Amino acid sequence: MPDAFESAYPLAPTLSPEDIRARANSSSKTKRPVITFLAGDESVEIPDKSEVGIMRPLRKSEFELDCFAEPVMMEALPSSTWLDKRDLQHRIFVNRSLHLENVKFYGFDMDYTLAEYKSPQYENLGFNLTKERLVHKGYPKEILEFEYDPSFPVRGLWFDTLYGNLLKVDAYGNILVCVHGFEFLKHSQVYELYPNKFLQLDESRVYVLNTLFNLPETYLIACLIDFFTNSPQYQREKTGVRAGDLAMSFKSIFQDVRNAVDYVHIHGDLKVKTTENMDLYLNKDDRLPTFLSRIRESGAKVFILTNSDYNFTDRIMNYLFDIPRDKAGVKTKEPPRNWKTYFDWIVVDARKPLFFGEGTTLRQVDTKTGALKMGNHVGPLHEGLVYSGGSCDVFTQMIGAKGKDVLYVGDHIFGDILKSKKIGGWRTFLIVPELVQELHVWTDKCQLFQQLQNLDVELGDMYKDLDSSTKEKPDISKLRMAIRDVTHKMDLAYGMLGSLFRSGSRQTFFSSQVVRYADLYAASFLNLMYYPFCYMFRAPAMLMPHESTVAHEQRFTVDTPTIDRSRVPTQRNTIAVTTEEHSEDSVGQVEFNPQDLKASTSVPHVRPETPRQLTHTHDEDCSDDEDVTKTAQAK
Ligand SMILES: [Mg+2]
Repeated sequence: MPDAFESAYPLAPTLSPEDIRARANSSSKTKRPVITFLAGDESVEIPDKSEVGIMRPLRKSEFELDCFAEPVMMEALPSSTWLDKRDLQHRIFVNRSLHLENVKFYGFDMDYTLAEYKSPQYENLGFNLTKERLVHKGYPKEILEFEYDPSFPVRGLWFDTLYGNLLKVDAYGNILVCVHGFEFLKHSQVYELYPNKFLQLDESRVYVLNTLFNLPETYLIACLIDFFTNSPQYQREKTGVRAGDLAMSFKSIFQDVRNAVDYVHIHGDLKVKTTENMDLYLNKDDRLPTFLSRIRESGAKVFILTNSDYNFTDRIMNYLFDIPRDKAGVKTKEPPRNWKTYFDWIVVDARKPLFFGEGTTLRQVDTKTGALKMGNHVGPLHEGLVYSGGSCDVFTQMIGAKGKDVLYVGDHIFGDILKSKKIGGWRTFLIVPELVQELHVWTDKCQLFQQLQNLDVELGDMYKDLDSSTKEKPDISKLRMAIRDVTHKMDLAYGMLGSLFRSGSRQTFFSSQVVRYADLYAASFLNLMYYPFCYMFRAPAMLMPHESTVAHEQRFTVDTPTIDRSRVPTQRNTIAVTTEEHSEDSVGQVEFNPQDLKASTSVPHVRPETPRQLTHTHDEDCSDDEDVTKTAQAK
């Protein structure tokens, strides 16, 4: 049952399940649905947005789809927003400061990092092969009619195997969006299934669809749940479906899809089809050999650490490096250099995240046959040779690295980034190809973000002169409806399930993982080409609401004096890092010399001594000892 607010002001409808179903079936190719929005009292229909969500710049005509939105001029952003003047497409974003000069080892994952698969062609291939595998295992042939729709899935969703729902959640497991098959559940429906709209991340129940490889599977799960839930021959139950004597839980459907995906990746045709048609499935970039050469010229070492096997790695890398280059990576007419000559160390079959824990046996690969050589390789590691397995501990010891010396670049938030950071202590650089589209929407749909801000201001204005004596409450229902409407339009501008990073003003679980574990993130590792190897990446300040909504210039006066917690500098007890001058008789000041007290008391320290110089740094990339020594020497 809808709640009171929903009844009065129904949320602007998303695509209806029928629309999505129609789109999912090949028979609907010629007829595109329309989407209806509520804009004030009127409803507005806009043409099909099936291409929204695909990673490509939108055409001019598509921007105009927002004609129903009030045109709002974007106000100038504060100048601090524009500190980095590099082209947006070349930007690297910083969660924790990192001095590239301190990086001695650059490590790279291969799939979706060095090798960028084309979207949606590659997802399409995975989707079709998985469907065929499921039919081979006994699933109904009708499911072959589903076609991959890149505007539906977004990375980082949780699949609740109990109720068969795809969930977009925030950092703490609060549900932002809930989809059953193609049906977007309403607020009240979500509450019925999930008390407080919350779900604990319990691995026996929830599977996090973290990787770009998970995208086709995310959509296939939605297709199958929708098919079984709505086909007349199946009877819907709370945790699955039934057809006569046959019962299928959502959990078993999910497990079948997982098994089919694993089969397609490990034993099936995915690798064969990819290597048969590299131009169709892989992006080749001329800058790759040049960039890897530059890293080594800077004095740093380079390694590749991939979960793929040697034969597949060799074929993909041969294709990517098939660009004639000399030693310095400059284009020549000479035949291309062997890809292995660009790396100091090569590790395949790494089995990340296991690699960052107990690991597996480190063995050498026979590059002629692709077979593993006998015995456990005990080192050292040689340039030009290929190794399989191993563990982070053994590997870093053999190459002579400390955790902080390594910058590891990967696309997998869990396997590459979270584990390498938590266990290996490596610095981390996450590749998020979706950033191309995310930044496109962020900049091109700025009028929607501005509208949301304006609505917030209007809401604030309605309460402006009211206090606890107010008896008549203002009618904010229209504003609330407008806020929901704009938020919904913002979400749809990214795709059917909205942005990878946010839903309206709330950040997603994926966002929180990125902030926590990725020191740097960008759409491509090649963006590093646009920064010098001595660059200091600085993280922007993280502001609390009491800081982000209060300007420094706003004067905050208090009626009664508060306790002064600042330690006042005097001639005898000067705080080196404080420049502010205080008068001798200011409130709370006590002239203090710890030496005076020592003579008259048996307590070693009756009061903590004011630090005379900066003793701590919030910079992760800075050695405390080194910094303090330098500060002391400077005095
Ligand atoms: Mg990868």
